[in-house]
Amino acid sequence: MLNVEQIDVYYGHIQALKGVTLDVPHGEIVTLIGANGAGKSTLLKTISGLLKPNRGSIHYTGVSMNGKTAQDIVKAGISHVPEGRRVFANMSVLENLELGAFVRRDTIGIRHDLQKVFELFPRLHERRKQLSGTLSGGEQQMLAMGRALMARPKLLLLDEPSMGLAPLLVKTIFAIIEEINRNGTTVLLVEQNANLALSIATRVYVIETGSVVLSGTPEELVSSEQVKMAYLGS
Ligand code: ATP
Repeated sequence: MLNVEQIDVYYGHIQALKGVTLDVPHGEIVTLIGANGAGKSTLLKTISGLLKPNRGSIHYTGVSMNGKTAQDIVKAGISHVPEGRRVFANMSVLENLELGAFVRRDTIGIRHDLQKVFELFPRLHERRKQLSGTLSGGEQQMLAMGRALMARPKLLLLDEPSMGLAPLLVKTIFAIIEEINRNGTTVLLVEQNANLALSIATRVYVIETGSVVLSGTPEELVSSEQVKMAYLGS
């Protein structure tokens, strides 16, 4: 579904991604693990068109995404939930969700998807009139995910949805990610906690200092000494 091939990305003179190649097959949950600063967020930002690669290509459903704007990419079916959630604090929950549908014109479909988001996240329905800036961290994460779903994505990019959340809430968020995936959305997930990443993934990529150093199924990675030592604390 998504094929990233040999991309290089720079911030000024600093090279953040070095020849990264990655495939996300339709229907799967692919996770990216790696230390702080490895380049995981940079990769998601490049896929969603916020950063431009200096080299390499990105194809989505066989179509080149090179030169497409971030808005074109949302329209094509890729939504990005950024690290730190970035909800519009001075707008209500409902207004944030409606903004997620900004690329759509199908009013009936938008109403239908709003109901689906409220079924997935009953808490957002309870809080729909509340200003988003006053939500808890977990609720803001739900809102950021709900807002992304309002674009009706076929591929959802999630950047560290567990960050700063209590373990029970992380469990809830991960169960919802699995449900979103079962409902037909392919997922590319950045997750610092390798155990968690491996538990949900169909395929895992390990990124170190801008390069993919290892990839495989969770079963393959669990048996890798390199992964055990560096990421699984054993
Ligand atoms: P984290 O989990 O800490 O977010 P990450 O793996 O997502 O880590 P990135 O945020 O992609 O890492 O950062 C990759 C590299 O690019 C880091 O060395 C970082 O310092 C650098 N970098 C990120 N954003 C910028 C920026 N706006 N300007 C300059 N350098 C940046």
